[in-house]
Amino acid sequence: CGIVGYVGRTLDGTALDVVMEGLARLEYRGYDSAGVALVDGDHVETRKKSGKLANLTAELAAHPLPPSTTGIGHTRWATHGGPTDGNAHPHRGGKDGKLALIHNGIIENFHALKQGLLAAGVEFTSETDTEVVAHLLAASYDETHDLTDAMRSVVARLEGAFTLLVIHADQPGVVVGARRNSPLVVGLGEDANYLGSDVAAFIGHTRHAMELAQDQIVTITPDGATVINFDGTPAEGKAYEVTWDAAA
Ligand code: GLU
Repeated sequence: CGIVGYVGRTLDGTALDVVMEGLARLEYRGYDSAGVALVDGDHVETRKKSGKLANLTAELAAHPLPPSTTGIGHTRWATHGGPTDGNAHPHRGGKDGKLALIHNGIIENFHALKQGLLAAGVEFTSETDTEVVAHLLAASYDETHDLTDAMRSVVARLEGAFTLLVIHADQPGVVVGARRNSPLVVGLGEDANYLGSDVAAFIGHTRHAMELAQDQIVTITPDGATVINFDGTPAEGKAYEVTWDAAA
């Protein structure tokens, strides 16, 4: 439902604060669960709770997260699997706890993909369509060692509508996003860049935005944003200034 991604050059304005603020600004869309993931050294940490954002805030107070430069956050509107803590996003992929994924939309062919993963011995911890994508990305990352390449190979196998954001502990300072039939906007800051399901996700930090076209992948680092099409060809996002006053 709501999506936020952040990378900063330094630990000032830590990823968690930025992501939680973005989720609060996206609350108006409605949701049933919320969660965050941050890169923390050699792994990713996640916290997620069903119910209101206040439940996630309480969880974070009980189990705090360290400062990080790299984070993602999600508010979920359940389509596959009930609104439980376990079905809340982010979802992890792989066995090593290094990858975390958030998703808006529906992966129409998740059942067939899940059968293949189950046959290969992958263990699932949720009933969501989303978790399939997390495991596919983890397997692809193990071959490509590049999150953008992994995203490119995985989106080629997906049907349906999706906005996806992924982080990996081996690539701190990188968030990779992809979109098909579901919105994703880039926010360009100074020494920090943002992704959001709409500009409310980052309006507290920057008004320099970039629109993506259909079937595109964007990779943000503290230095900027790089866009490619699903077929791998380079693309340009369309830059614009956010003029409406969402900061109020
Ligand atoms: N289909 C996914 C799920 O049920 C994502 C739902 C959403 O867009 O929040 O978990």
